[in-house]
Amino acid sequence: MNSFFSRGPKYSEESIKESLNALRDGVILIDKNNKIIWSNENASKWLNLNDPFSQENIRAYFPTSEFDEFLSQSDQNSSLEAISPLNKSIFFSLQIIPLGETEKILVMRDITKPIRLEKVRTDFAANASHELRSPLTVIAGYIELMVEDESIPNNWKKPIEDLAKQSERMKSVLSDLLVLFQLESESRITDEEIVDLQAIVMGVRKDCMLAKKPPKEFKVDFKDSAVILGDEVKIQSIVNNIVENALRYCDKDGEISVNWFIDKAGGHLSIKDNGIGMEEKHLNRITERFYRIDKGRSRKLGGTGLGLAIVKYALQAHEATLEIKSELEIGSEFICHFPVSRIQVEQ
Ligand code: ADP
Repeated sequence: MNSFFSRGPKYSEESIKESLNALRDGVILIDKNNKIIWSNENASKWLNLNDPFSQENIRAYFPTSEFDEFLSQSDQNSSLEAISPLNKSIFFSLQIIPLGETEKILVMRDITKPIRLEKVRTDFAANASHELRSPLTVIAGYIELMVEDESIPNNWKKPIEDLAKQSERMKSVLSDLLVLFQLESESRITDEEIVDLQAIVMGVRKDCMLAKKPPKEFKVDFKDSAVILGDEVKIQSIVNNIVENALRYCDKDGEISVNWFIDKAGGHLSIKDNGIGMEEKHLNRITERFYRIDKGRSRKLGGTGLGLAIVKYALQAHEATLEIKSELEIGSEFICHFPVSRIQVEQ
């Protein structure tokens, strides 16, 4: 057996430290007051600590409320992405491991390279989408003119209508892709404003009732004041996308109901329909980009396969989460859970 793992005095603190120093990760031992008891060589280098027993408070290096929250939890599976305190272009993934009653180990991993690669990938996709926008607008414009042109021979009418439908679809996909890239590039909202959620829901309801195939019923019940701190455009897009789906996946006797209430955990917006519903196995995948249960149906009804991915990112930007409940042929419920910090209590 390897001597390091056997009992005995020779497997000293020194040999453990030596091993921890050889790791590619940064390892920091923290006491109950968040002071650094010891740090390995990588962690000392990454935080510019001259002494491995520095006694500095770790919070001074990551001065965000997210880090404070992360530090106070003990879930070893959760990790936090953080920017290096010394260099804004270096990123770490942090993990906390509880040690005994009060001490903790903070493990730091340099994730700058994978983050850069991911950025190159999303920048490429976003640039490609931007490049496609102008030519597509021109093509769609000419096709529209052709649809309206009475002098076009009859045998060309059907192909031109098909062209018009496909160019409309491409425009919708492209526009959703651009929204998604924008959301991905800003993990948190920058411009916060007071948003009247009830007014947004009433506006979406009005549009919905004017749609070609409106629902039979659209009930709205706001039990509490629904003024939240957020980004109005993103909140509008959350409600739009979920309600559009409710409409899309309901048959002619569609009933949609929207409810809002506040409790100790925060504000909860539920959007429920009595549509085709979904099997349990799809529920944790439908927020993935282009994941559609029935591709043909989604396309035929004008879906892009990106709506719920947009909803997920827009909610994340508000530190909010999405809960989905559904039963085949009974209906679906999408609940947006907003944290207490987003709720504005009216005076
Ligand atoms: P799409 O544009 O295809 O509607 P979304 O991202 O909005 O894309 O939704 C992904 C998939 O989730 C849909 O294709 C559909 O299969 C399913 N879905 C979403 N909302 C509902 C709903 N209210 N009822 C039934 N299925 C739904």
